[in-house]
Amino acid sequence: MSKYPWLLFHPNIPLPLHGLAPRVIKGQQWWNQTKREAKAKLDQHCWACGVHKYDAKYHQWLEAHECYSINYGKGEVKYVGTCALCHACHNYIHDGRMQMIVGSPDFPHQKYVDIIEHGETVLKEWFELKGWQWKGYKKAYQPMTLYFYLYPELPPFSNKIEWIEGIGEAEWNDYHLIVDGKRYEAKHKSYEDWLRFYQ
Ligand SMILES: [Zn+2]
Ligand SMILES: [Zn+2]
Repeated sequence: MSKYPWLLFHPNIPLPLHGLAPRVIKGQQWWNQTKREAKAKLDQHCWACGVHKYDAKYHQWLEAHECYSINYGKGEVKYVGTCALCHACHNYIHDGRMQMIVGSPDFPHQKYVDIIEHGETVLKEWFELKGWQWKGYKKAYQPMTLYFYLYPELPPFSNKIEWIEGIGEAEWNDYHLIVDGKRYEAKHKSYEDWLRFYQ
């Protein structure tokens, strides 16, 4: 059972918005409820690869991921809902974070390689099912350019989520988050700010 394999194309969260998320804005109680609903929706199966949590690799649990539509031209990041993913699929999506911690005791290089391979296998199987030509896909810090470059012909995945090309067009301070129609400004006011905070 694999319902939404395209979720694996979900880009990394743009740097200016790190530390800002619906779970931060709406609080723990909302987040607990939202996580519970996301996991129950597909009966404890990963939304991207379809594995049941008890059969998942690394951890026999699901992790909740906040999903966004992102317009890189305008710097607009809009919360559209939360999905539940196995540890491997979730890490595949957050590969920017993964690249920062790979090589640490908790995250050996082989785990990184396995997770990239897991994500690519799920995507490849989905492409074959659709009769689309698989040209590979390897996420990087700026995944959108690569994704549009490789697959300009893919139809929209859903009417809810949209990732619009235009990396580099919006300024750092254009980036903002929309949750329930309300606008929230970036937490880090510049790249230097971001660096100071995370290093
Ligand atoms: Zn999965
Ligand atoms: Zn996530």
